Parts: sequence; structure tokens; C-alpha cells
Amino acid sequence: MTSIQLAAAATLASVAVAGGTAYAALWPQSQLFGPVLVAGFNPDEIALTYDDGPNDATTERLLEVLARHRVRATFFLIGGFARQRPALVRSIAAAGHLVGNHTMTHPWLSWQSAGRIRQELAGCNAALEDALGAPIHFFRAPHGARRPVVLRIARELGLTAVQWNITAFDWNPISADEILGNLTRGIEHNRGRKRASNILLHDGGDVSIGQPRMPSVEATDRLLQRYKSKGMRFVTVAEWI
Ligand SMILES: [Zn+2]
Repeated sequence: MTSIQLAAAATLASVAVAGGTAYAALWPQSQLFGPVLVAGFNPDEIALTYDDGPNDATTERLLEVLARHRVRATFFLIGGFARQRPALVRSIAAAGHLVGNHTMTHPWLSWQSAGRIRQELAGCNAALEDALGAPIHFFRAPHGARRPVVLRIARELGLTAVQWNITAFDWNPISADEILGNLTRGIEHNRGRKRASNILLHDGGDVSIGQPRMPSVEATDRLLQRYKSKGMRFVTVAEWI
């Protein structure tokens, strides 16, 4: 356990259960509700992960950037959007990227019934598997929100839950410069702690297809220019299993 995890455990033991439970449900790297994959231990590795797609032009531009730099990334797709854009789901996988489950409709799973959680996860698996003809093995909870039943149902469906350790904050209307600053600070922090970086970015928005995310694509391009020349290795989260 890290000192932060120990502090979290102490928090759970000593303060109101409701407060501690919310903390464990939402803190991205918390393992208190069950094991989640965060990152490997090679500080020279970075996983770029993109949530809330597929998203038409933004996803297509992002695929071009990743292809130009010859790197593979991880895409956690919303099943409802995947049903509407199966060809784009196939383009992501055909380019060598890892496709994961981000539920059908992007609810806060920590507040849903077990039946609804199963429906959200199984529905998204079916949407992605219908598009790709291959099983899905990874899952990211919307907002990172979870509780033990979420992780149990994910396991029953053959899914490894994946969190992150760097947040781009790119769901806010911020510039590519600001996103790049957030990512660079996170990567240097992780390198100092001798661990790999798992970066949360967005090529879509959960409200609808068509949300503007081009600053995230531009920040990706500049991040790759900066770190590929420094010998960093870009991996999918599957390489940390
Ligand atoms: Zn999301």
C-alpha cells in the first residue's frame, strides 16, 4: 500500500462511513472496493486512454495522429454511441488500438441497482462485440465511480476494471496548452515515483456524439512529439496485465 492508500484506509476506519465510502468510490486509484488496474511499474511507459467515444471527426483525427506517431492507445467506448457508429468502432480496432467497455449510457454506477449495472455492462459488451466480432476484456466505470458490486459484475462478465493516474481535465473547455501542462506534470510526478502513467483523456462527451474534443487531439500530438523523442514507450493497458 502507498502512504495515500494507507491514509485512505485510516480514513475509512476513523470517520463517518458515508464520507469514507464516497472517497473510496470516486478516488481513481482506490483499491478499497476491489482490485482495479491502474498502471505498471516501468516509469518509461505511458498508456493513452480515451473515454466517451466513438465521436465522428474527433475520433478520426485522433486515429490519424496516433497512426502518424505509430503508437497504440486504449479507447473506452460508450455502447449507445458504438451502436450508432459501428464502422468507427471497427476503424479503432483495425488500427491496432485496444477497445474497452464504458457502459451503454454512462450513468454513475455507484448509485445504480445490481440489475441496472449488469444491463449497462453487458449491453456495452454486446454493442462492441457485435461491431468487432471479438470479446471485450477491459472496462472503465463512468466518472471512475464504483462500489464492490460494480467490480463483481465486471469480473463475472470477464472484464478487468481500469482506472487512471493522470487526469487531463479535458471535459472542461480548456486549451491544448492547458491539457499538455496537466499531462506533463502528471508524467513527471509518476516518473519520480517510478511508476508508469495511465492518462485519462476524452475523444468524446457522454451527452451526445459530436462534442468538441479537438484540444485533446492536439495535446496528444504534442505529447507524442515531446515524449517519443525522450524514449518513452506508449502501451495499451493490456500490457500491464
Ligand atoms: Zn466517461
